[in-house]
Amino acid sequence: HTNPKTDIQIAQEAIKRPIMELAKEKLGIAPENLDPYGHYKAKVSMDYVKSLKDKPNGKLILVSAISPTPAGEGKTTTTVGLTDALNHIGKKAMLCLREPSLGPSFGMKGGAAGGGYAQVVPMEDINLHFTGDFHAIGAAHNLLSALIDNHIYWGNALGIDGRRVAWRRAIDMNDRSLRQMVSSLGGVANGFPREDGFDITVASEVMAIFCLAKDLEDLKTRLGNIIVAYTRDRKPVRAADLKAHGPMAVLLKDALAPNLVQTLEGTPAFIHGGPFANIAHGCNSVLATTTALKLADYVVTEAGFGADLGGEKFIDIKCRKTGLKPDAVVLVATIRALKMHGGVKKEDLKTENLKALEVGMSNLQRHVENVQKFGLVPVVSINRFSADTDAEIALVKSACAKLGVEAVMADHWAEGGKGAADVARAVVKAVDSGKSNMKLLYPDDMPLVEKIRTIAKEIYRARDIAIAKPVQDQLASFEAMGFGKVPVCIAKTQYSFSTNPDSKAAPNDHVVTVREVRLSAGAEFVVAVCGDIMTMPGLPKVPAANSIDIGPDGKIVGLF
Ligand code: ADP
Ligand code: MG
Repeated sequence: HTNPKTDIQIAQEAIKRPIMELAKEKLGIAPENLDPYGHYKAKVSMDYVKSLKDKPNGKLILVSAISPTPAGEGKTTTTVGLTDALNHIGKKAMLCLREPSLGPSFGMKGGAAGGGYAQVVPMEDINLHFTGDFHAIGAAHNLLSALIDNHIYWGNALGIDGRRVAWRRAIDMNDRSLRQMVSSLGGVANGFPREDGFDITVASEVMAIFCLAKDLEDLKTRLGNIIVAYTRDRKPVRAADLKAHGPMAVLLKDALAPNLVQTLEGTPAFIHGGPFANIAHGCNSVLATTTALKLADYVVTEAGFGADLGGEKFIDIKCRKTGLKPDAVVLVATIRALKMHGGVKKEDLKTENLKALEVGMSNLQRHVENVQKFGLVPVVSINRFSADTDAEIALVKSACAKLGVEAVMADHWAEGGKGAADVARAVVKAVDSGKSNMKLLYPDDMPLVEKIRTIAKEIYRARDIAIAKPVQDQLASFEAMGFGKVPVCIAKTQYSFSTNPDSKAAPNDHVVTVREVRLSAGAEFVVAVCGDIMTMPGLPKVPAANSIDIGPDGKIVGLF
C-alpha cells in the first residue's frame, strides 16, 4: 500500500475514453442526448433527463464518515473506489459527487476529485473551471446583487432598507479581504453607500437552490422566493419582487444539466453542484442523483463532513424533499483518524496504539448508532493507510462485529476498484438484505426550535440546546412568515459531535448554543448557526496556489 506517484501524475497518465463512447456503452445514452464539453466531459440534455421519468430507480448508497480529523478520512476517494469496485464485481454502478470549488483548490485542502487510483478524470478540469457551472452560479448570484442596488438607485419603489439588505455578493475564491466592505462609494452617480461583503460561491443560496431544484421550473420558483432584503417595517423583499428570477434562471439554464465524466477505470460519474456542508446541505444536485438512479443499478454518492452533519442533512433535507431513500450507508473510517479521536497527536500516528484506537472507536460507534436511528444499514469501510498494523485492523473489525456491523478493509487508493471489492460485496449484501427503511429524524410540522433540539439531542447527544430569546423570536417570525414546516440546516464544527472542535471521540452532556438563525427561503431551510461559520474562507500562509504551475507543454503541476 504505497503510491510513488502524486494524484495529478496518476490522473495525467490515465487513458481516458471519449465521453460520448463511454456514455453510449455504459449508460445507453445516445450522442444526441449529450452536450459535449471537449472530448472527456459532457452535459446530459435536460430533455433526456425528463424522458427518464418513468424508468425504475436503482439502489442508492450514501457514503459518509466518522467525525473528520486533520488526518483525513477519504470519503470522495472511497466513493470513487467503491463504485469502481461494484463494477469490478459485475454490477452496473455509477457515482455522483460535488463539483470542487476553486477556493480550497488554491487554499489548503487541494482538489476534490478523489485520490491515488480512485479518481475522477480529467482531474485538472474538474478541480479548475470544469464546465463553468460555478461561474454561472456566481453570475446569477451577482445579477441579483446588481439588481438590488440598481433598484435602490432608481428610486427604491419597494422601500428596501439599505441597512437590511440580506443578499451579499459572491465569488468562487478564498479571499478574506472581501468579507466586509462598503459598496457604492464615490459619489451620487455610484448609488447609496451601504455595508456589503462577499461569500464564496459555494456558500451562496443560489448554489443550495441549484442543488435542490427538481427541474427548471422549480429552480425559477425557488430563485424568486429568495429574501434579499427587508423594508424599514421589516417586510421581506423577494428576488421575484425585483423580477430577478427569470434572468437568473436564464444564466443557469445550461449549468443545470448534470456533468458526465469518468473514473480512472472508466466508470461513469456525475459531478454536479457543490454547496457548503455548513450553511447548506453539502451534497451534489438532486438532478444528478435522480438521473443517475435511472441509469444505473447502483448509485454511490457522498455527503460532506461526518455522518452527524452531512449524513443527517442528506436525509433530513435532500431526501425529505425529493423522496430519495438510501438503501445502505457506507461509513468511512481510517485507523489514523480513530487514533486521533483517541487522543493521539498527528505526528505520532505512525506508531501502533491500540489503547487510543479503542477510545477513538466510540466516535465510529456513535455514527453507526445514528445511521441505524435513520433506519439504515451501515457498512464500515476502513480506508487503508500504509502505517495501519494488523493488530489495529483486527481491533476495529472485532469492535464493529460487536456492534453488529460489517467492517471491511478498502485499498482502492493503492489498487483501484479491485482494492475495494470486499467493501462492494458487503454493500451489495447490505442493500440486498432490504433492511434499510429510511425514517426522517423529525416531522415537517415540528416547531423549528424543536427540530434543532431533536437533532442536537438525538444525533449530537447533547444534553440540550441553549437559545437566547432574540433568536427564538426570530424563529417565531420565520414560522409566522409561513416557514415553520421547512427542515433545519445546522452549521457547526464538523470536527466534533459538540460545538467544540477539540472535543474528540463521543462527547456527552454538552449544550449546543444556537447563536443565530438565518432563513434560506428559496432553498427552503432554516440555518441554525451553532459555532463560527465561515462563508468566505481565507488562504493559509502557504497556499496550495504557491505550488501550482504550468509548463511550456501546457501541463499543470502541483494540483492535488
Ligand atoms: P474527503 O472526501 O473525506 O474530504 P478525500 O477522499 O478527498 O477526502 O481524500 C483526501 C486526501 O487524502 C486526498 O488527497 C487523497 O489522495 C488522500 N487519501 C485518501 N485515501 C488515502 C489512502 N488510503 N492513503 C493515502 N492517502 C489517501
Ligand atoms: Mg470529499
